[in-house]
Amino acid sequence: METKPLREFHKNKTKKDGLQTMCKDCSKENSKKQYMEDRKKRIKYVENWQKNNPEKTREYRRKREGSRKYKEYKREYMREYMRRYTQTERYREHRRQYMREYYLKKEEGRASESRLTGVLAVVGNRIRSFVLE
Ligand SMILES: [Zn+2]
Repeated sequence: METKPLREFHKNKTKKDGLQTMCKDCSKENSKKQYMEDRKKRIKYVENWQKNNPEKTREYRRKREGSRKYKEYKREYMREYMRRYTQTERYREHRRQYMREYYLKKEEGRASESRLTGVLAVVGNRIRSFVLE
């Protein structure tokens, strides 16, 4: 059996010796476990409720998605996502390719690959610029 100094135990006035039966470490571990178990139960409960109340669930979702706060959150999320995505080399290469194809298709022979300099393109008699970073 392990022995621990008294200061390793929380106080509990309802106990004869005035101390918790579990030491501090053990009660910490125990409440962590309890929390995780409760969390699992809560999630299960919500899932169950949603399954049994599809109408209400749909309604709640609609309300949530219609709320200003949610829209703002979504917009902010997308903005951040795009900000990161547009900084990848993959995106830039993709965009270069896309712009090339787009202009070539749109101008049908009026613009040729050789006339696309990468940043400026001569299209007809006009100089077009497009964003290539
Ligand atoms: Zn212990």
